[in-house]
Amino acid sequence: MRYVVCYLMESSSGPVLLDPGWPTDVSWDALAHGIGTAGWAVTDVHGVLISHAHSDHHGLAARVREASGAWVGMHREDAKLLATYRDGSEAEKRNGDFLRLCGVPAEEQTALLVDPAWHARIGELTPDRFVEDGAVGLVPGRDLHARWTPGHTPGHLCFVDREAGVLFTGDHLLPRITSHVGTYDAGGPDVLGEYLHSLDALVTWVGELDPEVLPAHEYRFRGVRTRVSALGRHHEQRAAEIRARLLEIGGGTVWEIAAGIPWSRTWEQTLGGRRRMALAETLAHLRELAARGLVATDGSPPPIWSARPSTPD
Ligand SMILES: [Zn+2]
Repeated sequence: MRYVVCYLMESSSGPVLLDPGWPTDVSWDALAHGIGTAGWAVTDVHGVLISHAHSDHHGLAARVREASGAWVGMHREDAKLLATYRDGSEAEKRNGDFLRLCGVPAEEQTALLVDPAWHARIGELTPDRFVEDGAVGLVPGRDLHARWTPGHTPGHLCFVDREAGVLFTGDHLLPRITSHVGTYDAGGPDVLGEYLHSLDALVTWVGELDPEVLPAHEYRFRGVRTRVSALGRHHEQRAAEIRARLLEIGGGTVWEIAAGIPWSRTWEQTLGGRRRMALAETLAHLRELAARGLVATDGSPPPIWSARPSTPD
């Protein structure tokens, strides 16, 4: 992502920051400059809300806390996610298991390894408070409500300020690009199913409000319902491409499926972290399709996936 949009909310106890951004000096300077332009200093920040535990969002939280004494709040599930990163060698082992689960050929695995030191660094943050689904009173004097929207991460949060008519969507709902929704574990929940459910729940939650959407990337927009419908169609399209690929090759590993479906770049150009994310998205789609009875796996190591008839008896 070229940039992250950070939001500063005025409150009776000092400004509350949503998603402070990447853990780099360049980001820090930009953040301090932005807060200054709004008439405050980093040292004034009263609280830091985290939409989700990805380093482009939570990365500077500890540094802001250190400078200002602010509290840091995030959802419990994302605090757990950070704890799993903290032991870099554990993150490295899980990634190795994931690559084998996807059937990545041995000679291709080196290019897809994670950096344990980076994982350990981004996992350092521990929050001061957990923000639960439905939480209120996070920004003194403001009618801000939190909504738990798992999918992009297990503890992703959106926030609505009904009085101001704005909805902060983090990476859950973006105007043009689709959020990364991936599965990196052998077991675990159907994260794509959870994501799609969270999108529908968001539409219900905002109801008649038609808020202005303030996402963490790209630009502000209106039309939650229209955008959610478009994302639903996008994921149906991806599901159809995966089923078509399975029918074409008569079954295959996540690696073989991912290499043969369209991506924003060609598969040869989809390298390193991007390729790892592509595999995780493919696996998330397979899990969602399996939950609907449209694909099945033979359980062998690595699992071979195949399409099932779309109208099972
Ligand atoms: Zn992001």
